[in-house]
Amino acid sequence: MSPKAPITQDVLTLPRKLPEGKVNLVGLTRDQMRAALIEHGTPEKQAKMRTGQIWQWIYQWGKRDFADMTNLAKAYRAQLAENFVIEIPEVVTRQVSEDGTRKYLCRIAGGHEVEVVYIPEDDRGTLCISSQVGCTLTCSFCHTGTQKLVRNLTAAEIVGQVMMARDDLDEWPTPGAPKDETRLLSNIVLMGMGEPLYNFENVRDAMKIAMDPEGISLSRRRITLSTSGVVPEIARTAEEIGCLLAISFHATTDQTRDVLVPINKRWNIEELLQALASYPKVSNSERITFEYVMLDGVNDSDADAHRLIDHIKRHKIPAKINLIPFNEWPGAPYKRSSNNRIRAFANIIYQAGYASPIRKTRGEDIMAACGQLKSATERARKSRKQIAAEAGLDRQ
Ligand code: SAH
Ligand code: SF4
Repeated sequence: MSPKAPITQDVLTLPRKLPEGKVNLVGLTRDQMRAALIEHGTPEKQAKMRTGQIWQWIYQWGKRDFADMTNLAKAYRAQLAENFVIEIPEVVTRQVSEDGTRKYLCRIAGGHEVEVVYIPEDDRGTLCISSQVGCTLTCSFCHTGTQKLVRNLTAAEIVGQVMMARDDLDEWPTPGAPKDETRLLSNIVLMGMGEPLYNFENVRDAMKIAMDPEGISLSRRRITLSTSGVVPEIARTAEEIGCLLAISFHATTDQTRDVLVPINKRWNIEELLQALASYPKVSNSERITFEYVMLDGVNDSDADAHRLIDHIKRHKIPAKINLIPFNEWPGAPYKRSSNNRIRAFANIIYQAGYASPIRKTRGEDIMAACGQLKSATERARKSRKQIAAEAGLDRQ
C-alpha cells in the first residue's frame, strides 16, 4: 500500500426500487431478473424460461411495454406490468454535428444528466457512454474533472444509454426479420463522463448485458473501457468483463503525470505499467491502447515520445498509442500541440514499431469531443484560478 492518502470515492448508487415500488428490469443480470420474477409471483419452475423470454423482448427486440410480449399469457403480462417497469434514461436534447456525430443529453433518476456521444465512421459506429455523473478524479485537462461527482450510474442507466441510442438510430430488429449484420452501433467505448473502474460492478453488469448473445450481442472485442489507472481493478476488468482496455497515460514522468492525472499519486507509472504487463488477456491481437493527450509544451517533446516507448518496451506490453489532440473547453489551462508537433511525436512512436494513430477530433462544434463532456446540472464548477492552481500553472 502506498503511504499516500487514497483517492476516495464517496459516491452513491441509487437503489433499484423505484418510488412507486416497481422494480426496473433493465440492468438486472439474468440471475437477478430470475430472482425478481420469483419474488413477485412467478413460479420458481417457470422463472428461468420466463427470464429468457423477457430478456429477449427487452434486449433483442427493444420492447418497453409488457403488452408487446406476445409469447406470454395476457394475465402474466398484466402481473408483470403491476410489479415491474422497463426504463432507460430519457433523452433531453440531441445535437447533431456537421460531421454526423450525435450528442445526447440524458436525464436519469434524481434529475441528473449525463452525456452520450455517437460517432459514425465508414466501417463502424461507436457509442461513447458515461459511467458516472461527473467524476471524483480531477485530471487537469478534462472538462468532466471540473464537475463535482453527483453519483455512480446504475447498470440500468449504463446499458440504457446503449438502448437509447439504438432507439434513436432505429436499430431494433423486428421479430421474424433477418438479422442485420451491418450495425450502425457496432462499438462501445467507456470514454464518456466518469471513471468506469470506480463504478466497477455496475459497469460490468451493464457490459455483460450488452454482450449477451440473446440480446444486444456485441462482441467483447468491440467494447473498450478507458481508465485513468485504477490499478487494483485492472486485472478484474480482464477477468470479469473481458473487454479491451485503454489507459489514459498522458505523461511519461511521475512529476508530470501527478499533475495531469492525479490518480498517479496513488498508483504511479511503474505500478500502472506492471498491472498492464500482466493484463491476462493481453496478446498481439488485443493490444492495450495508450491514450495520450497532446498538450502544448507540457508532455509533447521528443524526449517524452522516447520515454513513452521505453516504458512500453521495458514492460513488453502489446500496445498501440492513440494520440489525442487536446480539445479545449471554457477555462481550460492548456493549449493543443501544433499539428507538426503531433506528427513528429507520432513519427517517433511509429519508427519504434508501434501504431500511433492521431485521433480525429469529432463533434467539436457541439462540444462532443473527448474531454469536453460536462452536464449542465450541478454546475459546481471550479474557478479558472482553482483549475490553474491545481495544474501547477499559477507558479509559472
Ligand atoms: N475516466 C476515464 C474515461 C473517460 S475520459 C479515463 O480517464 O480514461 C476519455 C478520454 O478522454 C481519456 O483518455 C481522457 O484522458 C481524454 N480526455 C479528457 N479530457 C480531454 C480533453 N480536453 N481533450 C482530449 N482528450 C481528453
Ligand atoms: Fe475523470 Fe477520466 Fe476526466 Fe480524469 S480524464 S477527470 S478520470 S473522466
